[in-house]
Amino acid sequence: METIIGIDLGTTNSLCAVFKDGKPILIPNNQGEFLTPSAVGLVDEKVIVGKSAKDLKVTQPENASVCFKRYMGTDTEQEIAGKKFNSPELSAIVLKTLKEDAEKFLGHEVKDAVITVPAYFNDHQRKATKLAGSIAGLNVKRIINEPTAAALVYGFHDQDADKKLMIIDLGGGTFDVTIMEIFEGSLEITSTAGESFLGGEDFTFRMAAWVLQQVGKNLEMVEFRQPELMVRLIKLCEEAKRKLVTETEVSISIPDEKGNLTDQKVSMTYDQFKEITSELMQRLEKPVIRALRDSESLPDEIDEIILVGGATRMSLVSDYIKKLFKKDPCCQHDPDQVVALGAAVQAALIKDDVAVEDMVMTDVCPFTLGMQIVKTFGRQNHEGYFLPVIHRNTVIPVSREETVFTMHDNQQKLTVEVYQGESRKVKDNIKLGELAIEDLPPAPEGQPINVRFSYDMNGILEVELHIPKNGKKYRTVLTNHVKNLSEEEIQSAVKKLQGLKFYPRDQQANRDIVVFAESIVGEVNAFERESLEQTIDAFEHAMSSGEQEIFEAAKQELLMRLSSLGHPYKKNTEGLNE
Ligand code: AMP
Repeated sequence: METIIGIDLGTTNSLCAVFKDGKPILIPNNQGEFLTPSAVGLVDEKVIVGKSAKDLKVTQPENASVCFKRYMGTDTEQEIAGKKFNSPELSAIVLKTLKEDAEKFLGHEVKDAVITVPAYFNDHQRKATKLAGSIAGLNVKRIINEPTAAALVYGFHDQDADKKLMIIDLGGGTFDVTIMEIFEGSLEITSTAGESFLGGEDFTFRMAAWVLQQVGKNLEMVEFRQPELMVRLIKLCEEAKRKLVTETEVSISIPDEKGNLTDQKVSMTYDQFKEITSELMQRLEKPVIRALRDSESLPDEIDEIILVGGATRMSLVSDYIKKLFKKDPCCQHDPDQVVALGAAVQAALIKDDVAVEDMVMTDVCPFTLGMQIVKTFGRQNHEGYFLPVIHRNTVIPVSREETVFTMHDNQQKLTVEVYQGESRKVKDNIKLGELAIEDLPPAPEGQPINVRFSYDMNGILEVELHIPKNGKKYRTVLTNHVKNLSEEEIQSAVKKLQGLKFYPRDQQANRDIVVFAESIVGEVNAFERESLEQTIDAFEHAMSSGEQEIFEAAKQELLMRLSSLGHPYKKNTEGLNE
């Protein structure tokens, strides 16, 4: 059977893993690193991916895009160097790069993948992720929830355990909580809850807004009018946020409108950070409580709390966990890596690898799925009510049927509107699509129509209508702003990707140094800046000279200059020079 790679396609970073010789292992990228920032940029009309694209976002915000996973499943497009891309297209570029890294590492072509998504991703977002895989030339064997992937790693390494775990997954843009029971190799997810727009980036943003407020500026105005200032400030706040894990106070420099550092500084204490992000922390609390309630568990019945996702490194999160559960969270596996490793374990399960033959895993549907119905009060009909068909935390795959009835004699048309959510009124839930039929057989009011919802292991929903009177069946294809692209449209997206020129991979490492050095230009004083710029110019020139000796000397010169300025170039810092 073909190799199946496991991919954690994250908001800020992506990773790739494979199950080899009886265990999951990470695959390094072309820089020898496991984390590839989920960033895409265009340099000289050529695509760059990863760290250099992330650095480029700081110096030339208009030429790079980050955090595009936040727009998965929507129509929002990002503009990079004047070219428009949607979220699946940008994600496909990252996936294509990971696929190539895997092929280089394994020494053969890779076609199949398991891709992880936040548990709380809805139908649109899951389909958009699958689409990204197809555009990248990957056959997506399974979409799996990120906390489930993390749970698989813990289950894989502790197959004889008998315990209840809670997985708290706070990434760059999403938050999931999952409760799982392990018993003699069987892993049973009992509940999942979360929010798909809550992550570490929100904490960084709150910090940036507060800093601007201290110097009399308004976040929206700065974002709109001074993008260079904004991206530089976000980078500085990201660094400050990380420092607040070990320090009690940080100082943040204020960039000017071109994004260059000024002497003006604002200090922030840990307590101030805690205060300005208290609303975000309250939002974290709700899914934790809901997951406990749904699995009928009390906090003291949870044996281990597992932290996943970079943002769980914030002391705010670990302190909160300690307070609620009265025990320290456990981080046996690196929170950045565990999801990709779990995707590789899932790949092994799909392939029936002997190393996982005793493992059985069941997952649940994280939210309630249902449809709009009309309720009659007295003689009046009221629209807009939600009829749940599959309740949240039902074990998947699942297929459930409800019967609805026509409201008029000889009614010909019927529209089933499909929603996801927990509210009794559909206006407060998310519309996933609709299925309309126009040829109901003539019958008096009250003609039954069976509506079947089937939710598969990928978390993708299919709806089927069955009309008992004439035996006809209709299947969704949910319409309504769902990106259900036809094969032709997918092919055109594939062509668009193929039409892009990628920066030659063997030169990308050097390009990364240039982009990083450029991102430092704005952080040093005028005198240092001039000499740094000269050194960058010399290195760029040497790159194209073709003379190895000149090139090596210029490279060493630039690396030394960066170190002497207090910003050594490190390959493993995700673009952050801490
Ligand atoms: P992920 O998507 O799991 O890679 O998580 C990325 C998020 O984790 C970003 O918002 C980062 O700012 C945040 N993060 C990563 N490392 C740290 C750290 N040491 N302290 C605080 N936040 C961090």
